[in-house]
Amino acid sequence: MLIGRKNKQKLVRSQFLGQVEGRSYYAAELTSEIVAPENMLFCDLRRLLGKIPDALFFLAGKAYQIFHWDRTHQYCSHCGARTENKIDERAKLCPSCGFVNYPRISPAIIVAITRDREILLAKGSRFQADFYSVLAGFVEPGETFEECVQREVREEVGLEVKNIRYFGSQPWPFPDSLMVGFTAEYAGGHINIDEKEILNAGWFDVDQLPLIPRTGSIARSLIDWFIEQVKSEETSSI
Ligand SMILES: [Zn+2]
Repeated sequence: MLIGRKNKQKLVRSQFLGQVEGRSYYAAELTSEIVAPENMLFCDLRRLLGKIPDALFFLAGKAYQIFHWDRTHQYCSHCGARTENKIDERAKLCPSCGFVNYPRISPAIIVAITRDREILLAKGSRFQADFYSVLAGFVEPGETFEECVQREVREEVGLEVKNIRYFGSQPWPFPDSLMVGFTAEYAGGHINIDEKEILNAGWFDVDQLPLIPRTGSIARSLIDWFIEQVKSEETSSI
């Protein structure tokens, strides 16, 4: 977006994002009183998922993630002095004690648990949204992804899983997650939800799915994968 001369004084700070086909891209943080240029408007990023091309969404997500880190690391977390941008890499350098701080990325697992024609879906208590989705949770220090899958599933719904397989990953810039997707099969136990995290959870037949997340998220890709798996097995067994 072109900032325009009269709005230049409203630029708080900017960050270099990278080069694409010889063109340099920057992200700029503006003060709240700025007026969008004609025929442009400011949008909430989360609402744009699935409505703009994925590449554009994730470039904007990268900008959002870098800005969140930039804004929250203006001071050294070790000694409290004001930090500076490191020249040779994306990091904050403390000129007082030398502490270097890199952009924070928080890995989280997201897992589709299946049982024949059924998938386990849950409604989270943290979201107002009315849809059901697959389980997710942050990785803890000292944990592998597979251990995290087992722990999260056990804690949130009281089930055991087996055959945990990597599915794919997706940066999720709200504010700094990296979602690492897995598929797993039900291995035992009865659903017993953690009421702090989950409002409701259940097994859903492929033909009777509730409202699910919109296209574009890895949660939706996992559910779509499950539907495709069941349907292709049915077709091949006819
Ligand atoms: Zn310091």
